[in-house]
Amino acid sequence: MGLRFQQLKKLWLLYLFLLFFAFFMFAISINLYVSSIQSYDAEPRHPKPPPKRRSLWPYKNIVAHYIGKGDIFGNMTADDYNINQFEPKQGEGADGRPVIVPPRDRFRMQRFFKLNSFNILASDRIPLNRTLKDYRTGECRDKRYANSLPNTSVIIVFHNEAWSVLLRTITSVINRSPRHLLREIILVDDASNRSFLKRQLEAYIQVLAVPTRLYRMKERSGLVPARLLGAQHARGDVLTFLDAHCECSRGWLEPLLARIGESREVVICPVIDIISDDNFSYTKTFENHWGAFNWQLSFRWFSSDRKRQTTANTKDSTAPIATPGMAGGLFAIDRKYFYEMGAYDSDMRIWGGENVEMSFRIWQCGGRIEISPCSHVGHIFRSSTPYTFPGGMSEVLTANLARAATVWMDDWQYFVMLYTAGLSLSARDKVNVTDRLALREKLQCKPFSWYLETIWPEHFFPAPDRFFGRIIWLDGETECTQAYSKHMKNLPGRALSREWKRAFEEIDHKAEEFMSLIDLERDKCLRPLHDNVPRSSLQPVTVGDCTSHAQTMDMFVITPKGQIMTNDNVCLTYRPPKQGALKLLRNRNATISNVMLTQCAIEPSQQWTYDMDTQQISHRETKLCLTLKSATNARNHKVEKVVLSMECNFKDITQKWGLIPLPWRM
Ligand code: UDP
Ligand code: MN
Repeated sequence: MGLRFQQLKKLWLLYLFLLFFAFFMFAISINLYVSSIQSYDAEPRHPKPPPKRRSLWPYKNIVAHYIGKGDIFGNMTADDYNINQFEPKQGEGADGRPVIVPPRDRFRMQRFFKLNSFNILASDRIPLNRTLKDYRTGECRDKRYANSLPNTSVIIVFHNEAWSVLLRTITSVINRSPRHLLREIILVDDASNRSFLKRQLEAYIQVLAVPTRLYRMKERSGLVPARLLGAQHARGDVLTFLDAHCECSRGWLEPLLARIGESREVVICPVIDIISDDNFSYTKTFENHWGAFNWQLSFRWFSSDRKRQTTANTKDSTAPIATPGMAGGLFAIDRKYFYEMGAYDSDMRIWGGENVEMSFRIWQCGGRIEISPCSHVGHIFRSSTPYTFPGGMSEVLTANLARAATVWMDDWQYFVMLYTAGLSLSARDKVNVTDRLALREKLQCKPFSWYLETIWPEHFFPAPDRFFGRIIWLDGETECTQAYSKHMKNLPGRALSREWKRAFEEIDHKAEEFMSLIDLERDKCLRPLHDNVPRSSLQPVTVGDCTSHAQTMDMFVITPKGQIMTNDNVCLTYRPPKQGALKLLRNRNATISNVMLTQCAIEPSQQWTYDMDTQQISHRETKLCLTLKSATNARNHKVEKVVLSMECNFKDITQKWGLIPLPWRM
């Protein structure tokens, strides 16, 4: 009997152990699963400095993945949308530190991510008045400002913003702005439907230390109509616009107001720091960056050095930097000047395009846009948009862009319409921009060519003295390559000139013919080795199918100085591999690529020449010729065709290149 009891006990223990073990394994696997999603989420979407804004392009899967991340448990309920789970924990997120959501909340965290396209559970743990570091340089901290700066109305528009995020924006404005400079805060609700944004918000703003008023759009209209409504009610000397998911850091306001005090024709932006959409950490970005647009008019940051044009002392690191483009969400402008310059294009709906329009308009009509390195404001950058787009995302966006392009870009409007997916020349017929054209007339604004040449001389757009089109490999087999070679052979005195300008002219004569002969399937175009790699990194070059117009991977702009540029400020660069890498690669008999696509800069490594006689493209400094070679990739051992720079040999068929123009203006 005793023995049996012992046995039973053992069995019982074993059973318990197995049960426990099974549970343990289950817990581990769940945890692994969650953290696998987590680690995917945690990938840095926005390269630290410089940050990206306005890079949401509906054609980059945003529509397809519209729901955002973490939709693993089906759709949200009405309760989910309306619940306010703000529960601050003391010290959480202090000094801009990241927040770690406890494991037990991870599933909920995933589920709620898509509500705002950021991790609301992280935000809901952070107090509204969390501390941030002082992100200014020593020079900026030491800077003293005039006693009598203009005062400002801060205007924040929102559509379905999260409670804790919106209120942290407001709190940071109140806590980090000198009281006498902050006249009022104006909130504009763009027809949100979350219940906590109704009475609860109205009650909350009544007791704030700064007069705060809330206006509501009657129906969903978008950020432009909402900001216009806010501006209409503002009484400050200056209008300061902020997104509804920002945190102002110490000393953010004075430099902005001081600059407008100096010159009322300056639209001034802060440095936009990054608040992580995942863990809400605050990351400072470079001070010396500036912005502009790519061929599809998406906003892009650039970080090459620019002259500070605003003070006599160009070494003054606190002086603002002139920027051809503005991100759009965060800026200050003299209130009266805002209206003198035509405020906003009120027919721009929902989101997008207004920053393009304002950038062109302010510059072309006599104003300036600058970034103050001393003003730091954090902004939550998201990788997808959480909103609905009444009228369709692509339709709304392209209509806004078509308006901006039609009014301000002169000849270049055709270029944008031809090479932006979703747009075409007919886009112009669909927009009525009579009012805005009248404004341009009234303000006597300068042409777009002036903007490109004077305000954005580094630009990578086509121009009358540049080549725009494809670079095809002259294998001598297709009709197009044959016609091209023949034309070049018969040029009188062709060997005498190695001037790109001369080449462009000769090609221009035959542009129509070459264009009509190109066979997108048989002709081979110079292009990046990989599709869809981030534009900012180094990319090897190859030849491949010549793509359709909507894709711009194989389209190049060549300047008279011999820079070979493509979209997004990327240039063909001679870049020999470092010694160490070279040895390693040689041992493995692998690709030794010395030609890359990288960020454009005025450098000898990016200067090329063209020999019309031999149709070779060579690197000016080393005199090495662009050559197509088969080589083994060091990483995956696949044989690939790459384009490199090698000793020139005029008989070598792999070194012959033709320039086939593409249309870009009417
Ligand atoms: N917004 C709005 N109505 C809209 C879309 C956006 O009021 O239909 C607001 C939004 O709440 C935010 C600002 O406009 O405060 C800018 O939008 P968002 O932050 O989505 O743009 P992003 O920063 O991603 O470019
Ligand atoms: Mn925003």
